[in-house]
Order: sequence, then structure tokens, then C-alpha cells
Amino acid sequence: MNQRRRITTAHGFSHRWVLSCLLALLIPIRSPVPSRGDVIVLANRTGHEVPLKFTPLTGQVQHVRLAIGENLPLYLDGKAEIAFSSAGRARQYVLDANCAYYFGRGSGGAIDLQKIGLGEDGTLAEGRTLPGTASRTPVKTISVKVLVDDEEPGRRLVWERRLRHRVEAASAVFGKYFRTRFEVVATDTWNSNNATTDFFETLAEFEREVKPAPAQLAIGFTSQWTMFRGRTHMAGTRGPMHPYILAREANPQVGEVERLEYLIHELGHFMGAAHSPEADSVMRPILGDKLAGRQNFRIQLDPVNSLAVAIISDEMRRRELSSVSELDVNTRKRLGQIYLELARALPDDPAAPRYAQLVRSEANSPVVVAAKHVLERIVGKAMENRALPTAKGNEPGTLVRRQGDELTEHLVREAARAAFEQPDQVQRQAFLLAIVACLGGGEPLANYPPTRNMLAALEDPSEQVVRRTVVGRPTLKARPDLLQHFLTSSLLAATVGIEPAYTAGIAKEMADAKTASGFSFADLAAGRAGARFALAVLNKKLRLEDIAESFSVSSYLPDLADLPEQLPAKEFAERYGTTSDPRFQREIEAIDRRILALPGYPPQKVAPH
Ligand SMILES: [Zn+2]
Repeated sequence: MNQRRRITTAHGFSHRWVLSCLLALLIPIRSPVPSRGDVIVLANRTGHEVPLKFTPLTGQVQHVRLAIGENLPLYLDGKAEIAFSSAGRARQYVLDANCAYYFGRGSGGAIDLQKIGLGEDGTLAEGRTLPGTASRTPVKTISVKVLVDDEEPGRRLVWERRLRHRVEAASAVFGKYFRTRFEVVATDTWNSNNATTDFFETLAEFEREVKPAPAQLAIGFTSQWTMFRGRTHMAGTRGPMHPYILAREANPQVGEVERLEYLIHELGHFMGAAHSPEADSVMRPILGDKLAGRQNFRIQLDPVNSLAVAIISDEMRRRELSSVSELDVNTRKRLGQIYLELARALPDDPAAPRYAQLVRSEANSPVVVAAKHVLERIVGKAMENRALPTAKGNEPGTLVRRQGDELTEHLVREAARAAFEQPDQVQRQAFLLAIVACLGGGEPLANYPPTRNMLAALEDPSEQVVRRTVVGRPTLKARPDLLQHFLTSSLLAATVGIEPAYTAGIAKEMADAKTASGFSFADLAAGRAGARFALAVLNKKLRLEDIAESFSVSSYLPDLADLPEQLPAKEFAERYGTTSDPRFQREIEAIDRRILALPGYPPQKVAPH
């Protein structure tokens, strides 16, 4: 039996990683692991400095003088109030989290504040929660390896100093606005192929030949070509958090300021910026227009890309991330909206649509798409059920509203029926994901990285509210808490494996033993039954057709009435010692025997665990 089968392959979480995180994440199920983290960008297009008072709804007042042309990200939790004076009169507004605003002049010449519409749907206006610790590192350092190819004419001492300076200058821009800096930790050389003339072929060669380690990001400066004309690429990378950037170095027509601008542009891509239609943005699609060499020119991102980069950097400071797919679902949702707006503004440019696709991939993953269909169907069935009368009328054959165990059985059967219509490769995972989302059990997993993104991609918070109301109160053996344990463990087993699910189940009860609820062998048994059920579904030991036909609570959950419950830690220790004590192990084995003997698992079909 493959115990590490995962519900989706989109996550690269290892078994060991999960075990080490379980205790940290699953025991304090009641304390929220994610914390708030938001940003608001203010841009100044008035032509004058704008003094203002910025007051986060939770946090300290900040007095800011917004310089001419500046795009300033302000980090906070949730919304903020802003106050400034316009033509001698005080103005005050409430600003939404994760949005960009600009100061401009109205028809009368008075300054005012406008929101830059970026596809927001209101769901993140109050702020977003992010996994990782709230105690933010003030500045995130991204380590860089700088390389030159064999065509570099300068001696090592010379090119090292030149390129280190350039990275430092670029880093200053990101340090000031995005609390992120780039630090050169290694330098090296590589041999580029003289026959290659295409930029992206050279980039591919660089990616093959060079390893970024010990740094996170490798920046290669090639002197392979000495001539360039028109729209030839001067530098490039493949998208946000891609660990390689390649830039052309040898070109006498390009000055150091412009080289710096190219580097900031590519580092902007690394940090999640796409191309901008604004002519003075470092993220304009075509550089090399000599703009950077002008006096008083400020090399900076536009407000929209500033927002995108600030949103990503806020999450980067909390935990180690190596690809866009690891970003939190709320981050990816907001970035998706921002990129689609940039794509609309620059319809011929491929960057923004590609980035949008990258960040929206989870919502479009086959398992989530299939689970959405299943969830939609069972919520529909729950609505039909809710419309039924609660007591039998005089008419023979009238249906009565299903409740408790009967409601659970009805919805699980309908979920299996709907899942069976989905593509074969994803139907079993989609079934499990949908019943967990629909019947509950997802709450403790909503904060747990391997399941959080999937559950969140499945439905919007507004849909969740509607769904909770229509579904009612399903139970197992008349107990809603047993159903929660059954479902939580089933999704955990399907996502990270049965052993971690078992370990988490025991850890949860040991934590409960220290509280008023106490250690419950019934809860533990319901969890183990759920994990066993999920494994049997994934391994096709249980067929969806059969579940659709005849799922019943008594087939998959043993009698638990005689199992000890509400044991305080002291009593647990007296009766069972620790969780590795033979007395405790005997109880667990007895529970597992009961589960294996259930009518849902015919003896000849059960593989020994
Ligand atoms: Zn670009």
C-alpha cells in the first residue's frame, strides 16, 4: 500500500518535512498560525511634495512626506485612514488593504486621492492572513552569485568590483521600498558557446551550466556579443522567483546607469513585477531609451508593480519560498488580479498574462477543478434537502428532511456519484477534498500548508458562508465532533500519508488531555477510521460506485460507545503511561482491529497496514 500517496502532485512536501511540521502546526489547532500582513501603495502624480498622515486601523500613526513622482508602499495589517490637506481643506479617506492609490489634481487644480482599479473583488480589502510568523524580519536578504562568461575582457578584480557595485546599487532600491536586499555571496565564471546568438538559447545554456548554490539567485553577465540593434534582448529571465538572470555586458553604447536599470528591471521580475505601460517605470517593456541617463530621473517601479512586489516581499520575509506556487492562496489571488489588469493595459506584451497563469495555477489544477464540480453538486443536494419538510405529512411517500447521520450518508453518496463523472485520474482525490470542504473537517487544515491552498482555492469565503448555512448539521453516530475527526484525518491521510495522519491524531488528543475536553479514544478512533477510509478510496479498494450506492456510517465507523473519553492528562498517565507504552499501544491495536473488521472493508480486500 502506498502510504505517501498525495492528493495532488502540485506540492513538493516531503514526508519528513510534514512530520517535523505536524507538532508545530496541528497541536495548537485553536491558535491561529497565520498572521496578518498587508500593504498599501501611495503614488504622487501632483508635481509637488504631498505631506500626509497615514493611520493603520491597527497600528501607529505615520507622518509621511510623499516626494514628487514617488511610489511608496506602506506595510500594515488591514485597512488604513489617510488625512491630507487639499486647497486649505482637510481630507480624510479609508484605504483598502492591498490596493494602490495615487494623488493627482482634479479639474479645479486641487489635489485628491484616486484608487487604481486592479480587479479587486473586496475579499482582501480588510487584509489577508499569511502563513509564517508575524515577527517579521525587518529586511529579507536574497543571496546572489555573480558570474561572467569567458568573453569578459577585464581581470577578475576589475569585473568583481564593477558588478558588486551594480548589485549593491540595485539592491538599495529594493531595500528602501520592499525591505528586501540582494547580497553577493559568491562570484564565478562560466564558458558560453560562441556559436549561440539567440538570447534565450544563451539563457538556457547558462541555466544548464551554472548552479546558483550557495546563493538563491545566479546573475550572469555575458560579453558574447558586441553589437546589438533595435529590440534585441539586453537582459532576461523567465519569471517571478526564477533563480537565473542573464544580462549582456559588453556593449559600448550602453552606459553604467542603463546597465543598472537593466539589472533593476530583471530583479523586479524576480520579485514579481511584470511589464508596465507607464513610460517612466523601470518595468516598461523596452529599456535602452536613454531615459535613465537624464538628470533627476528616478529609477523606480510604477505603483502597480510596486504593489505586486510589496505583496510578494511581505510574504518572503515570513518564510523561505522558492517558487510562485508556494505563495499563499490569497497572495496568488491578488497577484492574479493585478497581472490581469497589467495584461489589459499592455495587450501585446506576454509577461503579465504568463505571470497571471503562474499564480492562478492552483485554482485551475485538475483536482481542484474536479472537486469544485463535486462540491457544487453536493451543495445543490443539500439545498434540495433543506427544502424538505421536517416531519412526515399525511401523503404517503413524502420525503422528510435528512438530518444527522442520515444527512452525512446522503451527501457522501451524492459526492461519490458526482466525483464518478470526473476524470479518472482525479475523481477519488476530488471526492475526498469535496466532502471535507462540504461536511466540515477542513478548519484545522485551513492553516496547514499542504492543504490550505487547495481548500482555499475550492471556494471563496462568501461561498463558504452560504454553504455552511445550507448544509446544516451532519454527524457520525449523532456526534458532529466525530465527523470532524473522521474528515480531518481523511484529508490528511490523502495529502501526506496515513502515518502522519495517525501521529497528528494522537498529538491532538494528547494536547486535548491538558484541557477540559480531555483525551478521547472515540475521537482518535473516528480519525483513524477516516484515514483508513481515505486510503481505501485512493487505492481503489473502495469503489466510488459502491460508495454512491450504499455508503453508511456503520460500514465505516465502528461502535465507539465503550471507548474511554474525557480523560485528563493525569488519569491518562495512570492508565496508559505514555503514547509509546504497551498499554496504550494495545488500545490502539484494538481500535484498528475494529476498523478493519467493519463491513465496509471485506476481509480479502484489506491490505495489511
Ligand atoms: Zn522584462
